[in-house]
Amino acid sequence: MLTLCLSLLLLTTDSSNQLTNKKEEVMKFELIQLPYAPDALEPTIGKETIEFHHGKHLQTYVNNLNKLIQGTPFENKTLKEIVAQADGALFNNAGQTLNHNMYFTQFSPYGGGRPTGALAEAINKGWGSFENFQKEFVKAGTELFGSGWVWLSKDKHGELVITKEINGSNPVVHGLSPLLGFDVWEHAYYLDYQNRRPDHLNALWKIVDWDIVSQRFNGSKK
Ligand code: MN
Repeated sequence: MLTLCLSLLLLTTDSSNQLTNKKEEVMKFELIQLPYAPDALEPTIGKETIEFHHGKHLQTYVNNLNKLIQGTPFENKTLKEIVAQADGALFNNAGQTLNHNMYFTQFSPYGGGRPTGALAEAINKGWGSFENFQKEFVKAGTELFGSGWVWLSKDKHGELVITKEINGSNPVVHGLSPLLGFDVWEHAYYLDYQNRRPDHLNALWKIVDWDIVSQRFNGSKK
């Protein structure tokens, strides 16, 4: 708690200094709005998890990102460009902002079911069946040691690939187009599932909005 208070104090001091020292402070990146109520994904993801994950963790990544790009050549770049080109703290915070922006907008209380159309065909081509893809995806997320993400992405030839990304990385660093990401940082599931990461990952299928994932696959949604 002391650490938290000190951090808050430092953040407050830092913000006020910036306001007085800078002629204008443009917060380029903003916290995305959730497309559902914080309790709408229950019981798959609890209200408290969503509130901490979106309101605290993501907000911190966005705040750090905005501070770190000030006065650098990254100020006028897109989020994906920053993730693909930056390193160190900027890479970590930009990566986590991109990861979570995609994560929170790929779920819906009306989600679940299975993909259709071209995305379904590409999944069948890659893994034989949707069920086999789900199994391989959860396996990759379960085997990832420590914090990170498991992603379904599209490569330059339109083929699908599953990658494990450590910490705040994102498939754009490999030249891939990310479509669907499951967060395996403990902050994503510990309040609801404790150490049962595979249970959490398997439950997430119930809330995936395949229309959004298809739009990403078809290139109509970033
Ligand atoms: Mn997270």
